[in-house]
Amino acid sequence: MGSAEAYQLHAFFFPVMAQGHLIPFVDLARLFSSHGVKVTIITTPLNARRFSNTIERDKQLGLDISVQLIPFPSEEAGLPQGYENVGSFPNFPAVISKFFNSLSLFQQPFEDLLQEHRPNFVVADVFFPWVTDVSAKLGIPSLIFDATCFFSLCVSDSFTRYTPHENIKSETDTFVVPGLPDKIELTRSQLIDDLKKPTHLSKMMERIRESEGRSFGILVNSFYELEPAYADHYRKVIGRKAWHVGPVSFSNRDIADKSERGNRASIDEHVWLKWLDSKKPNSVLYVSFGSVARFTAAQVLEIAMGIEASGQSFIWVLRLKDEDSKQRITEDFEDFEKKIEGRGLIIRDWAPQMLFLDHPAVGGFVTHCGWNSTMESLSAGVPMITWPLFAEQFYNEKLVTQVLKVGVSVGAMEYQTIGGEKAIVKREDIKNAVEQLMGGGEEAEQMRSRARELKEKAERALEEGGSSYANVTALIEELKLHPRPAI
Ligand code: UDP
Repeated sequence: MGSAEAYQLHAFFFPVMAQGHLIPFVDLARLFSSHGVKVTIITTPLNARRFSNTIERDKQLGLDISVQLIPFPSEEAGLPQGYENVGSFPNFPAVISKFFNSLSLFQQPFEDLLQEHRPNFVVADVFFPWVTDVSAKLGIPSLIFDATCFFSLCVSDSFTRYTPHENIKSETDTFVVPGLPDKIELTRSQLIDDLKKPTHLSKMMERIRESEGRSFGILVNSFYELEPAYADHYRKVIGRKAWHVGPVSFSNRDIADKSERGNRASIDEHVWLKWLDSKKPNSVLYVSFGSVARFTAAQVLEIAMGIEASGQSFIWVLRLKDEDSKQRITEDFEDFEKKIEGRGLIIRDWAPQMLFLDHPAVGGFVTHCGWNSTMESLSAGVPMITWPLFAEQFYNEKLVTQVLKVGVSVGAMEYQTIGGEKAIVKREDIKNAVEQLMGGGEEAEQMRSRARELKEKAERALEEGGSSYANVTALIEELKLHPRPAI
């Protein structure tokens, strides 16, 4: 048995190759490294390029952090060569199931590295559920990082435990999600496909749930003060071990880290900074739907018309579904782009999101409620217009609008498969939501002030003595007591 004497722990961090996981994973690894842990991030060459500058800067500051490369099995997986990240695959919706199938191909290379280096612990992506067993064979504790919040973990658990959706006939009638600290209502149309019928992800989801129970515990990108009732519910009622360690985006302290986070920005810093600097505080709406969502031309036009009608200044990160949509939008957009000149900035690929949210001119965020975006908005004190699309985003919306009361819902009702498009949110609904949040009404001002309070709490959580800081140090001390793996 080891003791808690001062020795340096070595940890493997192993993210899945999707921006919504890779980005917070790198932040998380850097957080542990700043607490004195020797950190090795395992990833493929093209993914490593996305954050190698940041890691170099950390090394120069004296942190013990490095990257270990493994190949991406494009050929074996039947995926196009030269692409290694979910967000970059051409024709993404068609290859998504191949991508998920490819994840088991990483097992052997990972196991070989584990054998060779015998780290003290592993933090693995929730989509690599086999890591729990592979690590256990060598006596290495493994933790899971799920890139979501306690609230959504609790909602998911309720669906597994009580299956409230199974007796509901209508897709549009609301029903209560049982056993939660608040009365949370959803409709069947908002639920993950996998809950309603078997999908290519069903087997993996089952394995994920199983491995969560057998792992050392899970790490959550959240802070206690944000969702205390749900952090307690997860630990005490559901009975799982969990550490809140967020907001992990705060690992990015300097401008270079923030501006290169995830990818190189596709707009020059001088351009957007000058533009935002010319705007009044809280007057600009930031519109972005994460790293994988892409809209059809029809939906993009509704957004354009909705924002235009609201009269609001905005920055919009615009990604289109396919070539056909791109062509249609080029014609329809000419007029729109003329009308919004000076009032709107359109970015066609990757935005430096953290820097936008930090800017005092940005006063609202139209978001798909991906947990990273949601957490980044909360951490920057920016209230939201919620427009969930897929994954657990409809749950996250309820946390934002109903529990935290820092957002207005645009009224999205239908779950989308990634890259697909079912229901169109209409321009009137978009305009109404924008006016409600940005129009200066009393309710909106209350949301803004609640968001500001959450930002302060988020900052305190990661300072020495704060709740997330204390959780990270407690976990490190606990892991030091774990028997060291034999070399
Ligand atoms: N992001 C960014 N620039 C963009 C689009 C996304 O920096 O133009 C980042 C964003 O800050 C967040 C992540 O990509 O950290 C997206 O994760 P999220 O969970 O919000 O959504 P997902 O991409 O998984 O749907």
